[in-house]
Amino acid sequence: MTDEWEVFALKYADHNIRDRRESFLFDDNHDAPWPLDYFVWLLKNNDKYILVDTGFDRSESELRGRTIYQEPAAKLAQFGVKPDMIEDVIITHMHYDHAGCVTDFMHATFHLQEFEMQYATGPCMCHGVLKKPFTVSHVCALIKQLYDGRLRFYNGSAQITPGVEVHLIGGHSRGLQCVRVKTKRGWVVLASDASHYYENFLNSTPFPIVVDLENMLQGFKTIQHLADSTDHIIPGHDPAVRTLYPPVTGGDDSILRLDVPPQN
Ligand SMILES: [Zn+2]
Ligand SMILES: [Zn+2]
Repeated sequence: MTDEWEVFALKYADHNIRDRRESFLFDDNHDAPWPLDYFVWLLKNNDKYILVDTGFDRSESELRGRTIYQEPAAKLAQFGVKPDMIEDVIITHMHYDHAGCVTDFMHATFHLQEFEMQYATGPCMCHGVLKKPFTVSHVCALIKQLYDGRLRFYNGSAQITPGVEVHLIGGHSRGLQCVRVKTKRGWVVLASDASHYYENFLNSTPFPIVVDLENMLQGFKTIQHLADSTDHIIPGHDPAVRTLYPPVTGGDDSILRLDVPPQN
């Protein structure tokens, strides 16, 4: 088995009625519209699949006023992948839009930073503003995986399998990790919420949901250090990803290939 992986972004939802103040701290153009996409990411090596994040389901989209097109498991099915084909799930962090459909993949092994579980189950959750991006049923589902022996913890950097690494970033959430994947074009970094948009890391502009600003700013540097170039960094929520990378099938820009260079 080669250690080079194919990498895909699957967009399943979005939130378009929002503006720049929700994406960039201290932004001069704060009331300009600024849409946000929701993705999960799929890594493929022959017949082995690793899912990066589980997204959220329809009921969560209604609670939070988001637009969902397909639940992530249905999106995977459209790609020809059933939940029981996923052996490993990397959870970048436990916010509702990344850890919401854990129960669809209960037979998989989950990979999470220790700090993230401590954060999501500790005294910081007494503060409404820190608790807001979490949903308790998602946290409980991961605790169930822990008690069922299907949760692996990391503390910093680790190799999940040859060609797939996780690296602790923090900042946006205490135990946020990015994923570094070896591909035929080199090392790609799935930044997840270490950089929601290209602009966050390119301009060192913080995202407003933050628990440790210094770690967030350092994280912008770390992802650039880990990736072969800035073109190898995939931000977590940027609609620009859909114009930069080729769709897998025809004109459907909701499933994109990331292990080839950006096209524009
Ligand atoms: Zn987040
Ligand atoms: Zn997010």
